Amino acid sequence: MNPDHLPPPRLGPHPEHPRHRTGNQPPHTPRRPLWTCRACAQPWPCPEARLLLKAEYHTRQQNLSIYLAGLYYEAMHDLYHLNPHDGPSPRQLFDRFVAWGPFRRTTETTHE
Ligand SMILES: [Zn+2]
Repeated sequence: MNPDHLPPPRLGPHPEHPRHRTGNQPPHTPRRPLWTCRACAQPWPCPEARLLLKAEYHTRQQNLSIYLAGLYYEAMHDLYHLNPHDGPSPRQLFDRFVAWGPFRRTTETTHE
């Protein structure tokens, strides 16, 4: 297979979830490229965003895992370009973006 003829990699998802808003406050979505929350300025996903995402994706948990993994990729891209030498480790970013999500064996049994 000629690698020059492979399709270009797709871009990650647009970080538009969770969609919930309170009044005219900004939603708890990430501000790129720093990946801080627009609403509360904590590292995204903040606790409120995690709650809202779990509620929003309650019946589509695999989609939440895919969404988070896509944003993990996007965040790594942004943060490593911003701070190539002492940014967060891949493990730290994985824990922050993906590992808290619903698709874990521990949550499958405990319905966390
Ligand atoms: Zn927030």
